[in-house]
Amino acid sequence: MRGRPSARVKVAPAPARPRGQAPLPDGAHPEGVLPDGAEPDGARPDRPTADDWAAAVAAVTELPEGARVLLVCHVNPDGDALGSMLGFGLGLRRMGRPLGELQATFPGPPVVPQPFRDLPGLDLLVPASAAMTDPDLLICFDAASESRLGELIDRLTRARVALVLDHHASNTRFGGIHLIDATAAATGVVAEQLLARLGVTLDAGIAECLYVALATDTGSFRFDMTTPAVHEMAARLIATGIKPGDISRRIFDNRPFGSVRLYGDVLSRARLEPAVAGGAGLVWTYATLADLTRHDQEPYVLEPLIDSVRCATEADVSCVVKQTGEGEWAVSMRSKGAVDVARVAVALGGGGHRLAAGFTGRGTEQDVIAAIRAELNAGPDGRDSGGRGADGRG
Ligand code: 5GP
Ligand code: MN
Repeated sequence: MRGRPSARVKVAPAPARPRGQAPLPDGAHPEGVLPDGAEPDGARPDRPTADDWAAAVAAVTELPEGARVLLVCHVNPDGDALGSMLGFGLGLRRMGRPLGELQATFPGPPVVPQPFRDLPGLDLLVPASAAMTDPDLLICFDAASESRLGELIDRLTRARVALVLDHHASNTRFGGIHLIDATAAATGVVAEQLLARLGVTLDAGIAECLYVALATDTGSFRFDMTTPAVHEMAARLIATGIKPGDISRRIFDNRPFGSVRLYGDVLSRARLEPAVAGGAGLVWTYATLADLTRHDQEPYVLEPLIDSVRCATEADVSCVVKQTGEGEWAVSMRSKGAVDVARVAVALGGGGHRLAAGFTGRGTEQDVIAAIRAELNAGPDGRDSGGRGADGRG
């Protein structure tokens, strides 16, 4: 196995600068809305330092001619994973560097979920099995831990340099260079800031990808992470001429009729348990592979199901348990603020954000629900009130 990238990449440490004064290419952003992700070392442990940004910029700009670059994102990719990865890939292309090869990939079946099949940059995608095995530079998007890279973990260890872009506070820092901003609404935000520092001007293709990342992870600009900076970024993206209405229809309102009937079945078995988590309350349902088969639907149609369940006012915590195999379930959890569902997910082998988390459950759906119920009841007084607000999804 080749050494970890941090030991290999030659980067002159950048001097610490006051916030907002990191070197930025001319014309990358209008004055006043410059990316402000750089912090003096140690100032904000949940944001990249000026040295982190300098190392990331150098990792791209110091690539030799003919270098081979592999972009990866997490298994079962969502809008932020695909949007940040493909948007950044299109940006790299736009830089016009003489790369030997540029590929994007994700672990698992090489099937792009239907809502994302019109994304610009899809031509960069290759199946995981066809992804280059020893990239000069690997860039990882939206994965909180290396386990989210499935069979692509070997690329991570064999890459000469591994750069990790993410916004999960729980990120395990598994690469060589890390741009992890736990205050960012989406990994797409981090990607946009790095593109700006690389001097890449946004075009409509890049902007559409990054808009999908931003719109998905902010729940269409509804969640707490929807800051002024998020809307300023959306403004920069929309200014390239992209059509938010068309994009939203494609990614949010674009599922087969069979999925509507499937939701009917699955929502009709939802249960409310008001006493769980010290009275915070739990609402849950589950969907089986048989449900999908009966309605001739693909698993992706279940991704927004949690949004239909979590609207129940009576419960702080909501949960959808989706069968992925024999005795195997993908679990989505959401909180309205009283309970830290990331704590529950981590305790059950997964991860995520305080208000949106998940894990892989085993056994029957009742076993999985029982484990969640027990973990919720075992929290601080069955209830966790600490921490700051987070985003809603991925
Ligand atoms: P979703 O419910 O939208 O699939 O996921 C919500 C959040 O939970 C995502 O941000 C993701 O980080 C996290 N998450 C979901 N499933 C898993 C999992 O199996 N493992 C880990 N580590 N995190 C997960
Ligand atoms: Mn994300």
